[in-house]
Amino acid sequence: MSEGTIPPVIPAREHPVIAIDGPAGAGKSTMAAHLARRFGFLNLETGAMYRALAFKAIDNDLDFSDEAALVELAENTRIALEPQLEGNRVLLDGVDVSRRVREPDVTAAASRVSVHPRLRAWMVDQQRLLGRRGGVVMEGRDIGTVVFPDAEVKIFLDAAPEVRGNRRYRQSGPAETKFTEQAKATEEAMVRELKERDERDRTRAESPLRPAEDAVILDSTSMTLDEVLVAAEKIVRDHVTEAQLH
Ligand code: C5P
Repeated sequence: MSEGTIPPVIPAREHPVIAIDGPAGAGKSTMAAHLARRFGFLNLETGAMYRALAFKAIDNDLDFSDEAALVELAENTRIALEPQLEGNRVLLDGVDVSRRVREPDVTAAASRVSVHPRLRAWMVDQQRLLGRRGGVVMEGRDIGTVVFPDAEVKIFLDAAPEVRGNRRYRQSGPAETKFTEQAKATEEAMVRELKERDERDRTRAESPLRPAEDAVILDSTSMTLDEVLVAAEKIVRDHVTEAQLH
């Protein structure tokens, strides 16, 4: 190609990217799984990638503040997300760690390792590769702002911290144990932990959690799950044509 020639146009994605961002416990995974089933797309939970790497960092006894060591670890790691009807199966170097990465120590570690810009850059590269063909519902904290700023649909799902903590708590165990003093303390601890993670996500220098300018903000504090899912489906249909969905 001679100098001055207009570079080839990169073909548009055949199918849209649906970006869902928001704080922990807002219901992003449920929304992503629902929309993926509804439109035949893949749901990809990017938080699971940060969790998988955090787990490997724990396993290798790494210091969560050592960015260079974490990046080197990432460069020698394979993380695969396998979309399921509900959520993702997470494979770390070929081993299924789906359950382990949901445990509290890994949750806290993921929140700490995700502040590092170079580690985030590695994650973003992987996530762009995963979503490059479109036909995906990708959820996280920076999908609409950084990973796919050109996503066809951007939803920022929020809810009051107490409501998010309570929803998380109710998902966490059998209902009959939930009326004791100890249960109340556990729920309060969950709300505190969510607030801490939010604060770290919102105030970090690199890709802080915030709605993209063109995101539709959905506050689910006083909505039922059904109402949230109906609203999400409408947002998608308002932003893409029927042809893009098939
Ligand atoms: O979404 P999930 O709670 O599984 O994410 C775990 C942690 O990974 C979050 O607390 C957040 O700090 C980080 N994360 C992120 N960017 C994303 C997804 C998750 O920083 N796109």
